[in-house]
Parts: sequence; structure tokens; C-alpha cells
Amino acid sequence: MQTARPSILDSPIEYLKGVGPLRGDMLKKELGIFSFRDLLEHFPLRHIDKTQVSPIAAITPATEFIQVAGVLVQVETIGEKYGKRMVAQLKDKTGVLELVWFQGINWVQKMLEPGKEYLVFGRTGFFNGRPQITHPELELLSAQTMDGKSFLEPVYPTTEKLKARSLNGRQIGKLMAALLPQISERDIAENIPESILQQLQLVSRYKAYCNLHFPPSVDAYDKAVERLKFEEFFIAQVRLQLTRLERHKQSRGVVFEKVGDLFNDFYANHLPFELTGAQKRVIREIRLDTAKGHQMNRLLQGDVGSGKTIVALLCMLLAADNGCQSCLVAPTEILAQQHYNGLQELLKEMPVGIKLLTGSTKKKERKIIAEGLMDGSILILVGTHAIIEDTVQFKNLGFAVIDEQHRFGVAQRAQLWKKADIPPHILVMTATPIPRTLAMTAYGDLDYSIMDELPPGRQPITTVHRFETRRASVMDFIRDEIAKGRQAYIIYPLIEESESLSYEDLMQGYEQVKSYFPEPAYSISMVHGRMPAEQKDTNMQRFVTHNTNIMVSTTVIEVGVNVPNASVMVVESAEKFGLSQLHQLRGRVGRGSEKSYCILLTGVKLSNDARERIKIMCATNDGFVIAEKDLELRGPGEIDGTKQSGALNFRLASIVNDKGLLDTAKYFAEQIISSDEGLDASPNLPLKNYLIAQKGKTVWSKIS
Ligand code: ADP
Ligand code: MG
Repeated sequence: MQTARPSILDSPIEYLKGVGPLRGDMLKKELGIFSFRDLLEHFPLRHIDKTQVSPIAAITPATEFIQVAGVLVQVETIGEKYGKRMVAQLKDKTGVLELVWFQGINWVQKMLEPGKEYLVFGRTGFFNGRPQITHPELELLSAQTMDGKSFLEPVYPTTEKLKARSLNGRQIGKLMAALLPQISERDIAENIPESILQQLQLVSRYKAYCNLHFPPSVDAYDKAVERLKFEEFFIAQVRLQLTRLERHKQSRGVVFEKVGDLFNDFYANHLPFELTGAQKRVIREIRLDTAKGHQMNRLLQGDVGSGKTIVALLCMLLAADNGCQSCLVAPTEILAQQHYNGLQELLKEMPVGIKLLTGSTKKKERKIIAEGLMDGSILILVGTHAIIEDTVQFKNLGFAVIDEQHRFGVAQRAQLWKKADIPPHILVMTATPIPRTLAMTAYGDLDYSIMDELPPGRQPITTVHRFETRRASVMDFIRDEIAKGRQAYIIYPLIEESESLSYEDLMQGYEQVKSYFPEPAYSISMVHGRMPAEQKDTNMQRFVTHNTNIMVSTTVIEVGVNVPNASVMVVESAEKFGLSQLHQLRGRVGRGSEKSYCILLTGVKLSNDARERIKIMCATNDGFVIAEKDLELRGPGEIDGTKQSGALNFRLASIVNDKGLLDTAKYFAEQIISSDEGLDASPNLPLKNYLIAQKGKTVWSKIS
């Protein structure tokens, strides 16, 4: 293994010519630039093109910026006090340009030498019909600059304080110009295998850095950026794959070696429907993964209504066939209860002990559950986080399903691990599809399965947008649906910061709905987050059992709830909801065989973003498409659970705009890792050395 040799890039920034202690301190404080390397990593905001020299006669009122070259023929100071200014004439073969200074006159005057040739750049204007540039940039013309600069001039991000110290965006460029010639190819060592560079025609790392800062042309700049973007994705993908590989190796997992009687009996005799192709595929993926002897950590993405529950059940039966207990953790009591009821119903003719444990489970029942878990008579425990957080002990927990939460954190996972000698397999299920590119980056170290097929016979939900002014007609529509025997949800937004306010909104809404649907002809359930759990359950249950026609609710109803007879979803103030939330809400209907509707009510005034969201909702039912749009609208940093992940800290690359490059990077990372996981082949050593040098960032026991 190669030891890192000191590089000039590690030099303290104050040692750079033109910096010194004072500016050095400012650069550290203001931009976090401590070393030459930090400066090199300070990327330009944009470039100014001074590669062309134009004739003065080419200046028209439409010209914005121009670079010209000519002889300085006359310099004079005119005017008094505030009107005082210095005016010079620059002459080339085609005409005369006036140069004007209002400030720093004394200093500029000392610098200028009439009779000499200058290269001049600036924003043009016209004064008394003559072209002029105020406060131009100028320098003596040299043989090298006769035809303009040989590179585009970089402008860097800076701060007000630095500007005050003569370090504006272009002056930082001067520092960069002092730095780059001191740096050799060895200092910016290649980290991508040569064969990949060749196949993709990417420039070397060294060249990319040079051309990122001082590109000879726009094309050269684009090539530099492309190379560095690819590098970001590629390195991230290699890391993720190594992490996943390492996890597979290190974690011992329970081996589910056989498909046994419980699974087979259920499959043959109790499955209420034919599984979709996607369901079968995912069960197969999980079965193979749990048979390998490493611990499975899998994210299952399936759109709302794609039938994840039955997949979870079959896997839990697989666990039971292999002598293991399972748990199913739901995000809310309502959902836990519903899962419990549903699974109990499905398993009613099977010898499988199943129990429910939530925050409101009574002491006596807890004791019974504790015993059943320890003696192994309970094979499946359904519940809320109480399962994880409490001191719940299992005899032999082998499989844990986490429903509707892709944010199942490391800490929670660790808690689950403590419940068994060998860490249980974990299946995290989410109905909030994660855009593919995001899954590849933020969750790339997990294994994941996708269910992108709905059970047959579902009618697509029709989604429409209505302004609040038309609420009455919406209520008429609900009335018609109720007359057909259907049920409806009416959802109110619950904004965390002003909970009391929206609580009032909800109450008002409830009263309003009641006036449209008076008792005894109609009955209404209401559920909200402030209700005691018991009351919530009762009200929910009344809706589930069709004792009520309408469910007025906040978003507590959002995830998972399954009432197939409900055919209308009205979302009040829909502009206040995010796309994925709207999609989740809409997923509460369209679960039966009847035609379903989602009506998005909004105020008349809508922001552009809100209008776009509503438009997308009306245009598609596909959660994966919606997730992509959500990512485009909000940007990766705003998507649930990814803020702190750090996996998305790309400097140049964007998972929204550079999808193709990400795919390519993933492909090549897989190629390399699958053929040489230790990165020991000589073409891969530069990559290995780079990863080692980036210590602390790679979980890779083999080389650390
Ligand atoms: P989700 O993926 O949103 O959790 P569920 O598991 O709640 O979906 O399933 C939604 C509904 O679809 C349930 O009523 C379930 O019984 C039904 N379902 C699931 N799989 C199938 C299938 N293959 N064929 C028909 N209906 C199915
Ligand atoms: Mg579900």
C-alpha cells in the first residue's frame, strides 16, 4: 500500500503568492479556504469570454460587453468636485473609444501610459453618440494577448468582506492563476481507471481541474465539468457498492433455507386472489436474499394499492417455516389495527399465532403477549413502534417488516438487532415512491425491490381540480356517490406550525359538511391527531364498517388505510399539500372495483408551484412519475429523509439534470466491483488509493 506523499496542495493558503497572512485569514473565515487544495476546490461561478478582440467600429448600441485593443492617445481630467472624471481615448484602426473613470482617478492615472497599446474590456455605452466604457479593465497588450486571452476568465463566488479586501470574484481568479502553474499531474492524481476514461472519452482529472478554472473554450469547460460530474457519481457509486458488499459480508443472517408448509398451505388454499407478476417477483427476490446467510436490508417500493401487505405476509410465513418469529411495524395505531384485522382474517384457518401490540395495549394483554413471544406461540406480532421501543423480547425474531416508512433509521434498526442473536432480516415498505435516481444515491447501499404493477381490475382514479367557490357542486357530487352506496373522505390540511388554527379549520369544515349532510339521513365520522387513540379507532372503525358515509379527517388518514368502498377523496386547500402527500391521500380511494374520484379543492389564487402540482396530480396516477416530478420541483435536498443523508452532496452533478451520467456511473461501478471487489488489479489501484486517501468516508474494513 502506498503512503500518501505530501503534496503542494496541502500548503497553507497564506503561502500562496498574493495571499499572505491577512488575506489568508480572510479566506479561511469567509470561504473556508485553508490550503492550496481548498482554493483549487473553489469552483468558478461563471466565465468571462475575453478570447476575442473586436474592432472598435463593431460597437453598436446593442453591444453589451466587448474587448478591444488599441493605443491610448489622450488622458485628461475634466470637471470639478462631484463632476470630476478622467477621460482617455483609445484608438484602433477602425475608430476611437472613450474610456471614463469617476473613481480612483489618481491611482489609475499613475498606471496609464499614453502612447502604449492596451487590451481593454468592459460594458459599453454611448455618450453624445460616441461609444464609451466606464471603469474598463485594461492591461498592457502583449504578444500573447494580441488576439485576446487564450482562456476564459473565471469569476468566483466571494463575500462582501472579501470584496472589501480586494478579493472580488475576479481577483480570486488571480490567485487561482498563481496557483495552477505550481500544480502538476501528480498532485491531481487520476482516480478513474484508464479504460473507463477511454470508453467515455473523458478528460484526465488534472486536465479537468485546469479547464474548469481556465478553459481555453466553452467546449473545453463543458468537457471538464462532465468529467468531474462523472467522477462524483462514480466515486459515490463505488462507495455505496462497497458498503453494501461489506454489509453483506459482515452481517450474519438467519438462513431461510426452505419454503415450508405454512407458506405452501397459505399459497395453495388461502390466498384470496392471484398474485400480480410484480408481487411474485418481489417475493422471489426476498426468498433468494434471505437464503444466502447474510442479513437482508431491503427497501420495497410499491405504489399505493400495489398490494404490499400480502407480500409481507407471505414473507412472514416463510420466516415461520424456518422457525422464526416476525413483526410488522406500522406508523400509526389505526394502521396497525387494520393490518392486524386483515392478517387475522387471512390467517383465520391457519395455525399461526398473531397478536397486536400498540401504545394503548393494556397491561394484562402485554403480559400475555410477552409470554407468547417468549414461548414462541406468537409467530407474528403486529403493532406500532411500541414493538421496537418497548422492552419487547422475542424467542427468535428473524424477520421485521416496517410499513410505510422509508425513514427507518440506523438507530431503530440497531434496536431491532438487539432483539435477536442474529440480526433479523428487515423489509422496509414504502408507498411513497422514491425517484429512481434518488434511490440510487441516497439509498444505494440498501437492496431494493420495486412493485410497479397494480392488481388487475382497478379502475384508474379520475382526479379533478375545483376552486373552493364551487364547493356546493362538489358536495352534490358526494351526495350522488353516497346514493350509490359509496363513501367519501374529506381531508383538511394540518400544518404543524399552526396546529390550533387548522384544528379550527377542521371543526368549521366539519360543521359545514354536517350542514350539507344532515343527520339522520347521513352520518359522519371525524378523525384527527388530537383525539385519544381509542376515539380515533372507534370513529375509523365506524367508517370501515360502513356505519358512516363520510370521513372528515386531517392527514392522519394519509397512509395505508384501506376502505375499498370509499370512492371519493376530497382534499380541502389542496394547494397546501406536497405532491407525495396528495398522492398518498388519493391512494385511499380506488381500492375497490368501483370508479373513484379525487377532487382537489383550492383557493382561486395559486402560486406557480401549487398550480404545477395540481396539474401533475390531474394528469397522472403513477406514483413513480409523481415522485420524479416532485424531485424536479423541490430539488433533492427537500425530499423526505434525504436532508441529512449526505449522499447527495454533489458539487457539480445533479441527480435531476444528470440522470444519464448517474446511470453510466452506476454501471461502471458495478462492473468494477463485481470483477475486483478489493480493487487490487493494477488498473484499479488509482481508484483504491484515492478511496484510501479520502479516509473516514469509506466504510471498508478490508483496506482500512
Ligand atoms: P399497499 O401496497 O398500498 O399497502 P395493500 O396491501 O393494502 O396495498 O393492498 C391493497 C388492496 O389490494 C387490498 O385490498 C388487497 O387485498 C388487494 N390486493 C393485493 N394484491 C392483490 C392481487 N394480486 N389481486 C387483487 N387484489 C389484491
Ligand atoms: Mg400498505
